[in-house]
Amino acid sequence: MARYEVQKIVCENCGRQHKVKIYDVVDVRRDPKLKKKVIKDELQLSRCPFCGEFTRLDYDLTYIDPSNMITISLANTKDMYHEALETLDPRLLDEDDPEDVLLKAYLENSVRRIVRNSTQLAEKALIFDKGLDDRVIEIIKVIYAKLKENDGIEDMVFNIGEFSDGSTEMCFLPLKDGVMQNDPYPLKESTYLLTENEYMDLFTSFPNTNLEVDRDWAEAFLDYAGEMQAEEHEVDEDAKFVNEVMNKYYAVMDDEPEAAKVIKENWEEVMNRVLKKWDTEKDGRPTLEDLENDDYETYLGNWLGDIDMTLGNAKEHAFRMDFSENLLNVLDLSDDPLMYYNTRRSYMESLGEVQGFDKMMNYLYDWKKEDSDSAYLAATEIFEYEMNQQPEKAYELAKEYMYMPLKKSCDDWLFDSCENIFSEYNDQKRLKEIKKRRKEKIRFYE
Ligand SMILES: [Zn+2]
Repeated sequence: MARYEVQKIVCENCGRQHKVKIYDVVDVRRDPKLKKKVIKDELQLSRCPFCGEFTRLDYDLTYIDPSNMITISLANTKDMYHEALETLDPRLLDEDDPEDVLLKAYLENSVRRIVRNSTQLAEKALIFDKGLDDRVIEIIKVIYAKLKENDGIEDMVFNIGEFSDGSTEMCFLPLKDGVMQNDPYPLKESTYLLTENEYMDLFTSFPNTNLEVDRDWAEAFLDYAGEMQAEEHEVDEDAKFVNEVMNKYYAVMDDEPEAAKVIKENWEEVMNRVLKKWDTEKDGRPTLEDLENDDYETYLGNWLGDIDMTLGNAKEHAFRMDFSENLLNVLDLSDDPLMYYNTRRSYMESLGEVQGFDKMMNYLYDWKKEDSDSAYLAATEIFEYEMNQQPEKAYELAKEYMYMPLKKSCDDWLFDSCENIFSEYNDQKRLKEIKKRRKEKIRFYE
Protein backbone atom coordinates (compact mmCIF):
# COMPACT_ATOMS: atom_id res chain seq x y z
CA MET A 1 0.00 0.00 0.00
CA ALA A 2 1.18 3.41 -0.80
CA ARG A 3 1.24 5.53 2.31
CA TYR A 4 0.53 9.17 1.65
CA GLU A 5 -1.15 12.21 3.10
CA VAL A 6 -3.06 14.90 1.29
CA GLN A 7 -1.74 18.43 1.60
CA LYS A 8 -2.78 21.75 0.17
CA ILE A 9 -0.31 23.80 -1.82
CA VAL A 10 -0.51 27.25 -3.35
CA CYS A 11 0.23 27.40 -7.08
CA GLU A 12 3.13 29.73 -7.74
CA ASN A 13 1.64 30.79 -11.04
CA CYS A 14 -2.01 31.62 -10.23
CA GLY A 15 -1.86 31.73 -6.46
CA ARG A 16 -4.81 29.33 -6.00
CA GLN A 17 -4.82 26.39 -3.66
CA HIS A 18 -5.03 22.75 -4.71
CA LYS A 19 -4.56 19.35 -3.09
CA VAL A 20 -1.56 17.09 -3.65
CA LYS A 21 -0.60 13.60 -2.47
CA ILE A 22 2.62 13.49 -0.50
CA TYR A 23 3.92 9.93 -0.37
CA ASP A 24 5.78 8.53 2.58
CA VAL A 25 6.19 4.99 1.24
CA VAL A 26 5.74 3.94 -2.38
CA ASP A 27 5.14 0.19 -2.57
CA VAL A 28 5.14 -0.69 -6.26
CA ARG A 29 4.04 -4.26 -5.73
CA ARG A 30 0.76 -3.02 -4.26
CA ASP A 31 0.44 -0.21 -6.74
CA PRO A 32 2.35 -0.94 -9.95
CA LYS A 33 1.12 2.27 -11.63
CA LEU A 34 3.31 4.21 -9.22
CA LYS A 35 6.42 2.51 -10.57
CA LYS A 36 5.76 4.04 -14.00
CA LYS A 37 5.28 7.44 -12.42
CA VAL A 38 8.54 7.15 -10.49
CA ILE A 39 10.45 6.00 -13.60
CA LYS A 40 9.08 8.94 -15.59
CA ASP A 41 10.02 11.19 -12.66
CA GLU A 42 6.41 12.39 -12.45
CA LEU A 43 5.51 11.22 -8.96
CA GLN A 44 6.55 14.47 -7.31
CA LEU A 45 5.25 16.61 -10.13
CA SER A 46 1.94 18.31 -9.44
CA ARG A 47 -0.24 20.01 -12.05
CA CYS A 48 -2.38 22.91 -11.00
CA PRO A 49 -6.03 22.14 -11.91
CA PHE A 50 -6.73 25.84 -12.47
CA CYS A 51 -3.90 27.06 -14.66
CA GLY A 52 -2.09 23.87 -15.69
CA GLU A 53 1.25 24.98 -14.20
CA PHE A 54 3.54 22.17 -13.04
CA THR A 55 5.16 22.35 -9.64
CA ARG A 56 7.93 20.05 -8.52
CA LEU A 57 7.51 18.98 -4.89
CA ASP A 58 10.80 17.76 -3.57
CA TYR A 59 10.11 15.68 -0.50
CA ASP A 60 11.56 12.58 1.11
CA LEU A 61 10.08 9.13 0.56
CA THR A 62 10.90 5.44 0.59
CA TYR A 63 10.45 3.39 -2.57
CA ILE A 64 9.97 -0.34 -2.07
CA ASP A 65 9.68 -3.12 -4.62
CA PRO A 66 9.26 -6.21 -2.39
CA SER A 67 8.95 -8.65 -5.32
CA ASN A 68 12.43 -7.67 -6.45
CA MET A 69 13.78 -7.04 -2.92
CA ILE A 70 14.55 -3.40 -3.55
CA THR A 71 14.41 -0.50 -1.11
CA ILE A 72 15.44 3.02 -2.11
CA SER A 73 15.34 6.02 0.20
CA LEU A 74 14.93 9.34 -1.49
CA ALA A 75 16.65 11.76 0.86
CA ASN A 76 16.33 15.37 -0.21
CA THR A 77 17.25 16.54 3.25
CA LYS A 78 20.11 15.84 5.64
CA ASP A 79 17.70 14.61 8.29
CA MET A 80 16.20 12.07 5.96
CA TYR A 81 19.66 10.99 4.86
CA HIS A 82 20.66 10.15 8.43
CA GLU A 83 17.31 8.56 9.11
CA ALA A 84 17.67 6.42 5.97
CA LEU A 85 21.12 5.28 7.02
CA GLU A 86 19.55 3.98 10.22
CA THR A 87 16.35 2.47 8.86
CA LEU A 88 18.24 0.66 6.10
CA ASP A 89 20.86 -0.76 8.44
CA PRO A 90 19.92 -4.33 9.44
CA ARG A 91 22.50 -4.27 12.25
CA LEU A 92 20.45 -1.75 14.19
CA LEU A 93 17.40 -3.99 14.48
CA ASP A 94 16.34 -5.69 17.67
CA GLU A 95 17.13 -9.41 17.60
CA ASP A 96 14.42 -10.18 20.16
CA ASP A 97 11.56 -8.57 18.33
CA PRO A 98 10.06 -11.15 15.90
CA GLU A 99 8.99 -8.43 13.47
CA ASP A 100 12.46 -6.97 13.45
CA VAL A 101 13.96 -10.38 12.79
CA LEU A 102 11.91 -10.65 9.59
CA LEU A 103 12.80 -7.14 8.56
CA LYS A 104 16.46 -7.79 9.32
CA ALA A 105 16.48 -10.84 7.04
CA TYR A 106 14.73 -8.83 4.35
CA LEU A 107 17.16 -5.92 4.56
CA GLU A 108 20.20 -8.17 4.60
CA ASN A 109 19.12 -9.85 1.39
CA SER A 110 17.75 -6.88 -0.47
CA VAL A 111 19.27 -4.12 -2.52
CA ARG A 112 19.34 -0.97 -0.38
CA ARG A 113 20.07 2.43 -1.83
CA ILE A 114 19.94 6.08 -0.87
CA VAL A 115 19.45 8.71 -3.58
CA ARG A 116 19.49 12.49 -3.29
CA ASN A 117 16.84 13.57 -5.77
CA SER A 118 13.92 12.28 -7.78
CA THR A 119 15.96 12.08 -11.02
CA GLN A 120 18.32 9.63 -9.33
CA LEU A 121 15.35 7.71 -7.96
CA ALA A 122 13.81 7.49 -11.45
CA GLU A 123 17.11 6.22 -12.86
CA LYS A 124 17.54 3.55 -10.17
CA ALA A 125 13.92 2.41 -10.48
CA LEU A 126 14.38 2.02 -14.25
CA ILE A 127 17.68 0.14 -13.88
CA PHE A 128 16.19 -2.30 -11.38
CA ASP A 129 12.99 -2.64 -13.38
CA LYS A 130 15.10 -3.85 -16.33
CA GLY A 131 16.82 -6.39 -14.09
CA LEU A 132 20.15 -4.58 -14.36
CA ASP A 133 22.78 -3.88 -11.72
CA ASP A 134 23.17 -0.18 -10.91
CA ARG A 135 26.80 -0.72 -9.86
CA VAL A 136 27.68 -1.91 -13.36
CA ILE A 137 25.85 1.06 -14.88
CA GLU A 138 27.72 3.53 -12.66
CA ILE A 139 31.07 1.94 -13.56
CA ILE A 140 30.34 2.21 -17.28
CA LYS A 141 29.36 5.85 -16.76
CA VAL A 142 32.76 6.63 -15.26
CA ILE A 143 34.54 4.90 -18.13
CA TYR A 144 32.39 6.71 -20.72
CA ALA A 145 32.91 10.02 -18.93
CA LYS A 146 36.69 9.62 -19.22
CA LEU A 147 36.36 8.90 -22.92
CA LYS A 148 34.07 11.84 -23.53
CA GLU A 149 36.09 14.19 -21.34
CA ASN A 150 36.48 16.73 -24.12
CA ASP A 151 32.75 16.93 -24.77
CA GLY A 152 32.24 18.87 -21.54
CA ILE A 153 29.86 16.29 -20.12
CA GLU A 154 29.11 16.75 -16.40
CA ASP A 155 27.08 13.65 -15.84
CA MET A 156 25.04 10.98 -17.56
CA VAL A 157 21.65 9.47 -16.89
CA PHE A 158 20.77 5.92 -17.83
CA ASN A 159 17.77 5.62 -20.10
CA ILE A 160 16.00 3.28 -22.49
CA GLY A 161 15.55 4.74 -25.95
CA GLU A 162 12.57 3.67 -28.03
CA PHE A 163 12.63 3.57 -31.81
CA SER A 164 9.63 4.12 -34.05
CA ASP A 165 9.49 0.40 -34.86
CA GLY A 166 9.00 -0.38 -31.17
CA SER A 167 12.50 -1.72 -30.52
CA THR A 168 14.48 -0.34 -27.60
CA GLU A 169 18.10 0.43 -26.82
CA MET A 170 19.95 1.13 -23.59
CA CYS A 171 21.67 4.49 -23.61
CA PHE A 172 23.04 7.36 -21.55
CA LEU A 173 21.69 10.87 -21.80
CA PRO A 174 24.59 13.27 -21.29
CA LEU A 175 24.16 16.30 -19.06
CA LYS A 176 25.90 19.45 -20.24
CA ASP A 177 25.66 22.87 -18.55
CA GLY A 178 22.89 21.45 -16.40
CA VAL A 179 20.82 20.51 -19.46
CA MET A 180 20.02 16.99 -20.63
CA GLN A 181 21.31 16.56 -24.19
CA ASN A 182 19.22 14.96 -26.91
CA ASP A 183 22.09 13.03 -28.41
CA PRO A 184 22.34 9.80 -26.37
CA TYR A 185 25.39 7.54 -26.07
CA PRO A 186 24.21 4.03 -26.87
CA LEU A 187 25.06 1.27 -24.40
CA LYS A 188 25.30 -2.15 -26.04
CA GLU A 189 24.31 -5.22 -24.11
CA SER A 190 27.73 -6.74 -24.83
CA THR A 191 29.44 -3.80 -23.11
CA TYR A 192 27.19 -4.19 -20.10
CA LEU A 193 27.82 -7.95 -19.88
CA LEU A 194 31.60 -7.61 -20.31
CA THR A 195 31.77 -5.00 -17.56
CA GLU A 196 29.58 -7.06 -15.26
CA ASN A 197 31.67 -10.13 -15.91
CA GLU A 198 34.88 -8.23 -15.24
CA TYR A 199 33.85 -6.87 -11.83
CA MET A 200 31.17 -9.16 -10.42
CA ASP A 201 33.58 -11.04 -8.16
CA LEU A 202 34.99 -7.86 -6.67
CA PHE A 203 31.65 -6.38 -5.60
CA THR A 204 31.38 -8.60 -2.56
CA SER A 205 34.91 -7.88 -1.34
CA PHE A 206 34.73 -4.11 -1.92
CA PRO A 207 34.89 -2.73 1.62
CA ASN A 208 32.89 0.43 0.87
CA THR A 209 29.35 -0.31 2.03
CA ASN A 210 28.04 3.11 1.08
CA LEU A 211 24.36 2.97 0.20
CA GLU A 212 24.80 5.78 -2.29
CA VAL A 213 25.86 4.05 -5.47
CA ASP A 214 26.81 6.97 -7.67
CA ARG A 215 29.79 8.35 -9.51
CA ASP A 216 31.94 8.71 -6.38
CA TRP A 217 31.14 5.13 -5.47
CA ALA A 218 32.10 3.91 -8.96
CA GLU A 219 35.37 5.87 -8.97
CA ALA A 220 36.33 4.46 -5.58
CA PHE A 221 35.37 1.00 -6.76
CA LEU A 222 37.48 1.25 -9.94
CA ASP A 223 40.50 2.32 -7.87
CA TYR A 224 39.95 -0.67 -5.63
CA ALA A 225 39.46 -3.03 -8.58
CA GLY A 226 42.67 -1.73 -10.19
CA GLU A 227 44.62 -2.44 -7.01
CA MET A 228 43.10 -5.89 -6.62
CA GLN A 229 43.80 -6.83 -10.20
CA ALA A 230 47.34 -5.53 -9.95
CA GLU A 231 47.90 -7.57 -6.82
CA GLU A 232 46.49 -10.66 -8.43
CA HIS A 233 48.87 -10.37 -11.34
CA GLU A 234 51.82 -9.31 -9.23
CA VAL A 235 52.42 -6.24 -11.31
CA ASP A 236 51.41 -2.76 -10.46
CA GLU A 237 51.56 0.06 -12.92
CA ASP A 238 51.80 -2.08 -16.02
CA ALA A 239 48.76 -4.18 -15.28
CA LYS A 240 46.82 -1.11 -14.23
CA PHE A 241 47.65 0.63 -17.45
CA VAL A 242 46.69 -2.34 -19.59
CA ASN A 243 43.45 -2.84 -17.69
CA GLU A 244 42.53 0.78 -18.07
CA VAL A 245 43.08 0.67 -21.81
CA MET A 246 41.12 -2.55 -22.10
CA ASN A 247 38.23 -1.10 -20.13
CA LYS A 248 38.20 1.92 -22.38
CA TYR A 249 38.26 -0.31 -25.40
CA TYR A 250 35.46 -2.59 -24.23
CA ALA A 251 33.30 0.36 -23.28
CA VAL A 252 33.28 1.61 -26.87
CA MET A 253 33.79 -1.70 -28.65
CA ASP A 254 30.56 -1.35 -30.59
CA ASP A 255 31.41 2.12 -31.77
CA GLU A 256 34.07 0.82 -34.12
CA PRO A 257 35.80 4.04 -35.22
CA GLU A 258 36.01 5.08 -31.56
CA ALA A 259 37.37 1.65 -30.55
CA ALA A 260 39.92 1.74 -33.39
CA LYS A 261 41.10 5.08 -32.02
CA VAL A 262 41.69 3.55 -28.59
CA ILE A 263 43.68 0.71 -30.18
CA LYS A 264 45.75 3.02 -32.37
CA GLU A 265 46.66 5.27 -29.48
CA ASN A 266 47.57 2.53 -27.06
CA TRP A 267 48.50 -0.73 -28.67
CA GLU A 268 52.27 -0.24 -28.74
CA GLU A 269 52.35 0.79 -25.12
CA VAL A 270 50.12 -2.14 -24.18
CA MET A 271 52.32 -4.55 -26.08
CA ASN A 272 55.51 -3.15 -24.49
CA ARG A 273 54.16 -3.45 -21.00
CA VAL A 274 52.82 -6.93 -21.56
CA LEU A 275 56.12 -8.09 -22.98
CA LYS A 276 58.07 -6.44 -20.18
CA LYS A 277 56.04 -8.44 -17.72
CA TRP A 278 56.48 -11.54 -19.83
CA ASP A 279 60.25 -11.15 -19.95
CA THR A 280 60.55 -10.79 -16.21
CA GLU A 281 58.42 -13.83 -15.49
CA LYS A 282 59.23 -16.26 -18.27
CA ASP A 283 62.01 -16.98 -20.67
CA GLY A 284 61.71 -15.70 -24.16
CA ARG A 285 58.80 -14.41 -26.10
CA PRO A 286 55.21 -15.62 -25.72
CA THR A 287 53.89 -18.16 -28.17
CA LEU A 288 50.41 -18.39 -29.58
CA GLU A 289 49.61 -21.08 -27.03
CA ASP A 290 50.74 -18.76 -24.28
CA LEU A 291 48.36 -16.15 -25.60
CA GLU A 292 45.50 -18.57 -25.37
CA ASN A 293 46.22 -19.62 -21.84
CA ASP A 294 44.41 -18.07 -18.94
CA ASP A 295 47.22 -16.16 -17.27
CA TYR A 296 47.96 -14.23 -20.33
CA GLU A 297 44.41 -13.77 -21.46
CA THR A 298 43.81 -10.90 -19.12
CA TYR A 299 46.40 -8.83 -20.83
CA LEU A 300 46.45 -9.49 -24.48
CA GLY A 301 44.84 -12.75 -25.49
CA ASN A 302 41.39 -11.24 -25.13
CA TRP A 303 42.33 -8.38 -27.29
CA LEU A 304 43.66 -10.00 -30.40
CA GLY A 305 40.54 -11.37 -32.05
CA ASP A 306 38.49 -8.35 -31.02
CA ILE A 307 41.07 -5.90 -32.29
CA ASP A 308 41.33 -7.62 -35.63
CA MET A 309 37.57 -7.53 -36.03
CA THR A 310 37.25 -3.95 -34.83
CA LEU A 311 39.93 -2.63 -37.17
CA GLY A 312 38.34 -4.48 -40.07
CA ASN A 313 34.88 -3.10 -39.32
CA ALA A 314 36.25 0.39 -38.82
CA LYS A 315 37.83 0.07 -42.28
CA GLU A 316 41.27 0.71 -40.81
CA HIS A 317 42.73 -1.75 -43.29
CA ALA A 318 46.27 -0.44 -43.52
CA PHE A 319 46.55 -0.14 -39.77
CA ARG A 320 45.09 -3.60 -39.33
CA MET A 321 47.81 -4.99 -41.59
CA ASP A 322 50.53 -3.09 -39.71
CA PHE A 323 49.15 -4.27 -36.43
CA SER A 324 49.10 -7.92 -37.54
CA GLU A 325 52.61 -7.76 -38.96
CA ASN A 326 53.96 -6.11 -35.84
CA LEU A 327 52.27 -8.71 -33.74
CA LEU A 328 53.77 -11.54 -35.78
CA ASN A 329 57.21 -9.94 -35.39
CA VAL A 330 56.81 -9.54 -31.69
CA LEU A 331 55.73 -13.15 -31.35
CA ASP A 332 58.49 -14.36 -33.66
CA LEU A 333 55.91 -15.75 -36.01
CA SER A 334 56.61 -13.80 -39.17
CA ASP A 335 58.09 -16.90 -40.80
CA ASP A 336 55.15 -19.10 -39.92
CA PRO A 337 53.33 -19.66 -43.21
CA LEU A 338 49.98 -20.36 -41.56
CA MET A 339 50.10 -17.06 -39.68
CA TYR A 340 51.37 -15.27 -42.71
CA TYR A 341 48.54 -16.62 -44.80
CA ASN A 342 45.88 -15.84 -42.17
CA THR A 343 47.11 -12.28 -41.75
CA ARG A 344 46.97 -11.59 -45.44
CA ARG A 345 43.72 -13.36 -45.89
CA SER A 346 41.91 -11.20 -43.39
CA TYR A 347 43.58 -8.14 -44.88
CA MET A 348 42.44 -8.92 -48.41
CA GLU A 349 39.02 -9.88 -47.18
CA SER A 350 38.62 -6.54 -45.48
CA LEU A 351 39.71 -4.75 -48.62
CA GLY A 352 37.27 -6.81 -50.65
CA GLU A 353 40.15 -7.69 -52.95
CA VAL A 354 39.34 -10.61 -55.20
CA GLN A 355 42.31 -10.19 -57.50
CA GLY A 356 44.58 -11.19 -54.66
CA PHE A 357 43.68 -14.83 -55.20
CA ASP A 358 46.93 -15.89 -56.93
CA LYS A 359 49.03 -14.17 -54.32
CA MET A 360 47.04 -15.82 -51.59
CA MET A 361 47.44 -19.23 -53.14
CA ASN A 362 51.19 -18.67 -53.09
CA TYR A 363 51.09 -18.06 -49.35
CA LEU A 364 48.97 -21.14 -49.03
CA TYR A 365 51.47 -23.28 -50.96
CA ASP A 366 54.36 -21.98 -48.85
CA TRP A 367 52.46 -23.18 -45.86
CA LYS A 368 51.65 -26.50 -47.57
CA LYS A 369 55.34 -27.18 -48.18
CA GLU A 370 55.89 -27.20 -44.45
CA ASP A 371 52.76 -28.91 -43.29
CA SER A 372 51.39 -31.05 -46.06
CA ASP A 373 49.10 -33.25 -43.98
CA SER A 374 47.25 -30.43 -42.21
CA ALA A 375 43.49 -30.89 -42.41
CA TYR A 376 43.13 -27.20 -41.62
CA LEU A 377 45.19 -26.33 -44.64
CA ALA A 378 43.20 -28.74 -46.79
CA ALA A 379 39.95 -27.15 -45.67
CA THR A 380 41.39 -23.73 -46.43
CA GLU A 381 42.41 -24.77 -49.90
CA ILE A 382 38.94 -26.09 -50.73
CA PHE A 383 37.43 -22.94 -49.31
CA GLU A 384 39.69 -20.65 -51.35
CA TYR A 385 38.86 -22.36 -54.63
CA GLU A 386 35.19 -22.25 -53.87
CA MET A 387 35.36 -18.59 -52.95
CA ASN A 388 37.20 -17.85 -56.14
CA GLN A 389 34.54 -19.36 -58.37
CA GLN A 390 36.48 -22.51 -59.15
CA PRO A 391 34.10 -25.14 -57.79
CA GLU A 392 35.40 -27.95 -60.02
CA LYS A 393 38.84 -27.58 -58.52
CA ALA A 394 37.33 -27.44 -55.01
CA TYR A 395 35.28 -30.56 -55.77
CA GLU A 396 38.33 -32.50 -56.99
CA LEU A 397 40.29 -31.52 -53.86
CA ALA A 398 37.42 -32.40 -51.53
CA LYS A 399 37.20 -35.91 -53.02
CA GLU A 400 40.86 -36.39 -52.22
CA TYR A 401 41.10 -34.64 -48.85
CA MET A 402 38.04 -36.22 -47.25
CA TYR A 403 40.14 -39.31 -46.56
CA MET A 404 42.98 -37.47 -44.82
CA PRO A 405 44.11 -38.98 -41.53
CA LEU A 406 41.79 -37.80 -38.75
CA LYS A 407 43.09 -34.90 -36.74
CA LYS A 408 41.40 -33.56 -33.68
CA SER A 409 41.82 -29.85 -34.21
CA CYS A 410 40.39 -29.22 -37.62
CA ASP A 411 38.42 -32.14 -39.00
CA ASP A 412 35.14 -30.38 -38.57
CA TRP A 413 36.10 -27.54 -40.79
CA LEU A 414 37.43 -29.95 -43.38
CA PHE A 415 34.23 -31.98 -43.21
CA ASP A 416 32.17 -28.79 -43.47
CA SER A 417 34.08 -27.68 -46.56
CA CYS A 418 33.69 -31.09 -48.19
CA GLU A 419 30.02 -31.24 -47.30
CA ASN A 420 29.37 -27.83 -48.85
CA ILE A 421 30.92 -28.68 -52.13
CA PHE A 422 29.38 -32.17 -52.29
CA SER A 423 25.94 -30.67 -51.69
CA GLU A 424 26.58 -28.22 -54.48
CA TYR A 425 27.31 -31.13 -56.82
CA ASN A 426 24.50 -33.15 -55.31
CA ASP A 427 26.98 -35.95 -54.67
CA GLN A 428 24.81 -38.05 -52.32
CA LYS A 429 27.28 -40.89 -52.16
CA ARG A 430 30.05 -38.71 -50.78
CA LEU A 431 27.71 -36.82 -48.46
CA LYS A 432 26.90 -40.16 -46.83
CA GLU A 433 30.60 -40.93 -46.68
CA ILE A 434 31.27 -37.65 -44.86
CA LYS A 435 28.60 -38.47 -42.29
CA LYS A 436 30.36 -41.78 -41.75
CA ARG A 437 33.73 -40.05 -41.35
CA ARG A 438 32.30 -37.71 -38.73
CA LYS A 439 31.06 -40.72 -36.76
CA GLU A 440 34.43 -42.39 -37.15
CA LYS A 441 36.07 -39.30 -35.76
CA ILE A 442 33.84 -39.33 -32.70
CA ARG A 443 34.60 -43.03 -32.11
CA PHE A 444 38.28 -42.43 -32.75
CA TYR A 445 38.56 -39.72 -30.11
CA GLU A 446 36.35 -41.37 -27.53
ZN1 LIG B 1 -2.17 27.48 -10.91
